[in-house]
Amino acid sequence: MSDYDFDLFVIGAGSGGVRASRMAAGFGARVAVAEDRYLGGTCVNVGCVPKKLFAYAAHFAEDIVDAAGFGWDITKPEFTWSRLLENKNQEITRLNGIYHNLLTSAGVTLINGRARLKDAHHVVVGDTTYSAERIVIATGGWPFIPEFPGREHVISSNEAFFIEKLPKRTLVVGGGYIAVEFACIFEGLGCESRLLYRGDLFLRGFDMSVREHMAQTLNSKGLELTFNADVERIDKQSDGSLLVSLNNGDTIETDLVLYATGRRPHLEGLGLENTRVTLDKKGFVAVDEHYQTTEPSIYAIGDVTDTLQLTPVALAEGMALARRLYQPEEYVPVDYKDIPTAVFCIPNIATLGLSEEDARAKGHKLRVFESRFRAMRNTLAGRSDQSLMKLVVDKHDDRILGIHMIGPDAGEMLQGLAVAVKAGATKAVFDATLGIHPTAAEEFVTMRTPTRED
Ligand code: FAD
Ligand code: NDP
Repeated sequence: MSDYDFDLFVIGAGSGGVRASRMAAGFGARVAVAEDRYLGGTCVNVGCVPKKLFAYAAHFAEDIVDAAGFGWDITKPEFTWSRLLENKNQEITRLNGIYHNLLTSAGVTLINGRARLKDAHHVVVGDTTYSAERIVIATGGWPFIPEFPGREHVISSNEAFFIEKLPKRTLVVGGGYIAVEFACIFEGLGCESRLLYRGDLFLRGFDMSVREHMAQTLNSKGLELTFNADVERIDKQSDGSLLVSLNNGDTIETDLVLYATGRRPHLEGLGLENTRVTLDKKGFVAVDEHYQTTEPSIYAIGDVTDTLQLTPVALAEGMALARRLYQPEEYVPVDYKDIPTAVFCIPNIATLGLSEEDARAKGHKLRVFESRFRAMRNTLAGRSDQSLMKLVVDKHDDRILGIHMIGPDAGEMLQGLAVAVKAGATKAVFDATLGIHPTAAEEFVTMRTPTRED
């Protein structure tokens, strides 16, 4: 046992910090975690959880309309934003309580307040200085909004979870996860929703079939997509609405502008200058493969480092770090290959492994299987939405390199397939698997003829 106040001092009780502290305490370390805002971090308070609840809410819009084709008459459905907000807030408060109990029952000392590094072994919170043999920076990320005239009129995702009144018209700027998810949420909740993206086509990095199919799908739902344009300035008008001037000369009138233009590491006031911790070229905390910074007693995990900004990744890093430091016999490094992920837009996108473009760029010769079809539920509903399913297969050894899907519950479906891919499944294994009929998922095991072959 060290002479320090704690063996491990974790800064930030988000996904990574909570997991690292609970696990380390479970292995017998004396652990403290400092949190200045909310237990559970971004994911629980202003990320995955409230976003998914909002996405469920938005989904009912289509479900109610679709019910008519199945014989249901649901007259004049009405949506009350304040009720959704209140219920969401209650649920988050419940989860905050669960996180509190998880930490305290694991024996972790919870310290409320903003933590600042004093040196390699000391952290200051309020008027108190704590010493620790090791320190973990798990302070996550923070929304990035570029500079432009009228920036003060826009909000980020942090505020989107608390807006008092749902506006009639919304504009989301950006073309990544948050932009696409919120554009669909606003659309589903009845706003006139638009999305503005600076490039040719949103969702850069996703498979091209997914990007194109999603653009068509959202367009057909009436969600207006504007590509190849960016905001030049925003002016508030006398009636409270916002006039957005674009760099192509066009203007958009709207009531709310949500910027979803990426997130940056949350390092403000952290006191890194009092230590030998350095940042990488992109401004993230630089770490080695063991999450150790350039100050040997200080580690960093999750969104504050240049990793995939996903909760399961932060959790896995927290767990790996705790094991390596305090239970090395159980240590397993995080495997960053084939991490499945979903965009909870409507319909969902889910993806895992390589896109067709990336697989080719890496030199693989491919067989590509692609299927587009109208899900059975959409037939009686009279809905024209098509689902997309795609397998990217290595022609040389038949291994599945990538799986991509757009369709209802794509996230739920890909989780199971991710296990198969982790286990090294080949296309022959998919072919030998019987489907569950009638489901959309069976399509993944019945695609026989390649759409394209190198
Ligand atoms: P965080 O969870 O951000 O935790 C950092 C914590 O540190 C915060 O609680 C913060 O208050 C605290 N902190 C910061 N500085 C200090 C300080 N100096 N002193 C004390 N405390 C401090 N990921 C998914 O996998 N699925 C999703 O569906 C998903 N949806 C998302 C939706 C949105 C809108 C956003 C913004 C993110 C979403 N993410 C999603 C990403 C996910 O939330 C993050 O990857 C994850 O929370 C990162 O965990 P972390 O521990 O690194 O940081
Ligand atoms: P992303 O990195 O996903 O997307 C940022 C978008 O903003 C890109 O389209 C980017 O364009 C654009 N952009 C960046 N800078 C500017 C600028 N100066 N002006 C105009 N546009 C700009 O970030 P998000 O904010 O959407 O989300 C952050 C991260 O959180 C995600 O990457 C993801 O890891 C995580 N997340 C995960 C979710 C999930 O798992 N479902 C949901 C939400 C978030 P370009 O492509 O041209 O660079």
